Amino acid sequence: MAKRIVILTGAGVSAESGVPTFRGPDGLWEGHRVEDVATPQAFDRDPRLVQSFYDQRRAALAGVQPNPAHHALARLDSAWPHGKDHDLLLVTQNVDDLHERAGSRRMLHMHGDLKSAWCLACDSRTPWTGPLLDAPVCPVCNARGHLRPDIVWFGEMPYHMARIDRALARADLFVSIGTSGNVYPAAGFVDLARKAGADTLELNLDQSMASDRFAQSRLGPAGTLVPALVDDLLGTESSAR
Ligand code: NAD
Ligand code: ZN
Repeated sequence: MAKRIVILTGAGVSAESGVPTFRGPDGLWEGHRVEDVATPQAFDRDPRLVQSFYDQRRAALAGVQPNPAHHALARLDSAWPHGKDHDLLLVTQNVDDLHERAGSRRMLHMHGDLKSAWCLACDSRTPWTGPLLDAPVCPVCNARGHLRPDIVWFGEMPYHMARIDRALARADLFVSIGTSGNVYPAAGFVDLARKAGADTLELNLDQSMASDRFAQSRLGPAGTLVPALVDDLLGTESSAR
């Protein structure tokens, strides 16, 4: 029976909230090629385009709400025991704030957070809700025009990798929800978990690139599959006590 759980979520967990996924049918992210908006080179080349792209994504958060998948994961977080032999870690690749708005606490944003700004002058990170395009002043060092989105772009190192690796090495269940399995290192977490002896489960609308590396795949919308999984996990846990 699972005690130490690591859950990875991707854009698919937010799709039913109305946040478009990354590789939609046209292979673009909100109409843009990834190389034009999500790399350090794109930011050097055309900072205004990149800033306004993330400003729009940040502003759009006000119009979306957590869906039943986010709520179910928050319910699991508050009910799952903490302790010597129990643990839970939610790792999201998403840059939206829907997991924390639903109430998840034991969670990490491995690809950064739309609601954070990173100052390249003083290296500090500040909660941010407004635009960055108009070159605001850093509230820590007062420098103007050095704030960038606190987002991990392609070619940059994801955040919190040491903590994630430690949790995967101890996990007995790894669940991946709504991610295409295209973006490394997240796409390799299933292999690390299997090496550690964990059971592995994928929840996705369709078969993903990684499906054959999971012990089990359940196909369907996250808003239906995740609440059912959480009921199973909590039901099994309470009957074992
Ligand atoms: P992706 O867009 O590459 O893949 C989305 C996956 O979700 C697909 O496998 C698709 O089949 C599945 N899916 C779609 N709707 C679903 C649903 N209702 N239920 C279950 N599964 C569903 O996304 P990714 O693998 O997360 O990689 C994308 C990268 O893009 C990440 O680095 C992330 O930072 C960024 N991104 C983030 C957001 C966000 O924060 N919400 C949105 C788009 C892209
Ligand atoms: Zn600063």
